[in-house]
Amino acid sequence: MVARVIPVETFDLVIFGGTGDLARRKILPGLFRRFLAGQMPHDSRIVGAARSDLDAAGYREMIKDAIAEFGGSEKKETGQIDAFLACLQYVPIDAKGDGGWDDMAKLVRKDVVQAFYFSVAPSLFGDLAERLHKYKIANKKSRIVVEKPFGRDLESAEALNATLADHFREDQIYRIDHYLGKETVQNLMAVRFGNILFEPLWNNHYIDHIQITVAETVSVAGRGAYYDRSGAMRDMVQNHLMQLLCLIAMEPPSQFGADSVRDEKLKVIRALQGVDPHHIVRGQYDAGKGTTSYRQDAENERSFTESFIAMKCHIANWRWAGVPFYLRTGKMMKARSSEITVVFKEIGHSIFSENDNAHRNILSIRLQPNEGMDLQVTIKEPGPGGMRLVDVPLDMTFAEALGDSDVEVTDAYERLIMDVIRGDQTLFMRGDEVEAAWAWTDPIIEGWEARNDVPKLYDPGSSGPEDALMLLHRDGRKWREIKGE
Ligand code: NAP
Repeated sequence: MVARVIPVETFDLVIFGGTGDLARRKILPGLFRRFLAGQMPHDSRIVGAARSDLDAAGYREMIKDAIAEFGGSEKKETGQIDAFLACLQYVPIDAKGDGGWDDMAKLVRKDVVQAFYFSVAPSLFGDLAERLHKYKIANKKSRIVVEKPFGRDLESAEALNATLADHFREDQIYRIDHYLGKETVQNLMAVRFGNILFEPLWNNHYIDHIQITVAETVSVAGRGAYYDRSGAMRDMVQNHLMQLLCLIAMEPPSQFGADSVRDEKLKVIRALQGVDPHHIVRGQYDAGKGTTSYRQDAENERSFTESFIAMKCHIANWRWAGVPFYLRTGKMMKARSSEITVVFKEIGHSIFSENDNAHRNILSIRLQPNEGMDLQVTIKEPGPGGMRLVDVPLDMTFAEALGDSDVEVTDAYERLIMDVIRGDQTLFMRGDEVEAAWAWTDPIIEGWEARNDVPKLYDPGSSGPEDALMLLHRDGRKWREIKGE
């Protein structure tokens, strides 16, 4: 099945931080893919902006190299690369200075969709927003895109929201959480709300518990100084895991629209109970064979920052009363794997044999690798010899099921950028959501700081500290094995 591509309107996209890692690794290769797919009109303009002293030709060279280095299969499409590069412009600009803004004003057209991607440190957001107005570049229809980290606590997130609100309305602000751009995450909503099968069972009568695991094999080396001020709770749980939790737990919105969906997500965050400190396990990876420890990577021998966290949370509402949500994320783990697992309850009575009510239906939603879902169902073990039951997966790997490679290559960033151009905020975080998430996270972090909580060491290449396994064992449950790349 060939994916249908609906072209967006002609746009001008300014990427502040256009020479940075995110722009070169994700944003521009993603835009090139949309160009190749026929979604990006050829008269659109992409303007890189940063302090580096480049001209348009130098910037095009840089992005050509970036696509060669970071692009996927599309980098072979050399025939089209020049046409794409012709859409690129560059303006040297310091967010804190006043040079270059008049040139920017001349380049950005008023009669097409305008978007400004703030791919720079959040400390520059205010300067950029202010100058976009001072030089009359942005207008009431312009959109801005901002990246995580959106604050490091409630106070700083409120301050950032207030800074942006001084210059832009909420419906102009697109806060990216690229997890929401993943095919499977959107499919989670399609499966829940597009089928009659699941929603009647989606509650505490039928669901035993839910697990969300985001395991990474990378260390923090290279970004240790930044990470050490953050930790897994701020870097992963407050945003990505919380967003996944919201989509799994929210009530059906009345329609698939930005405010309907975000209202329901906000209610979930507000219904999250405070977490008992005994239900949290923090970890730090140790040195391994040929690998350095977290503290070495962070260049902080006394660091108490966690590179791993596992926790048990509860949502205080009728649907989820008594259903634990187990969240887990970490660096230097045994495999790269992101998965949501919905474990249904056992059947009430087995007609087959005493032990056969131990089988469970398990719905697992894989974000990476091999985006897809599988539903574990119980069937009769084939062959003679009586009625023995066995659990088998009904596998729905999207790329296979849909038989088209396009589903593999549509990366979260490119999908979200196209949503910005279309003006669809459904998959972006609203300001109040971000603040509510920090309001839940802050007391947990403050508790660790007050107690000088020391993370447990875990072996690199493992599933995290032993205590994280115990968190579920104590409840008579176990984590899904981390399988992946
Ligand atoms: P980066 O590689 O350090 O790039 C920063 C960019 O900002 C460069 O283009 C830099 O260019 C520009 N810049 C710095 N100071 C500037 C100033 N005063 N005026 C104008 N431009 C300035 O950072 P990054 O990894 O691309 O990340 C950008 C943002 O995205 C950060 O907020 C980061 O937390 C967030 N983010 C990144 C990733 C990722 O995968 N990289 C993922 C999620 C979120 P010049 O030095 O030439 O000015």
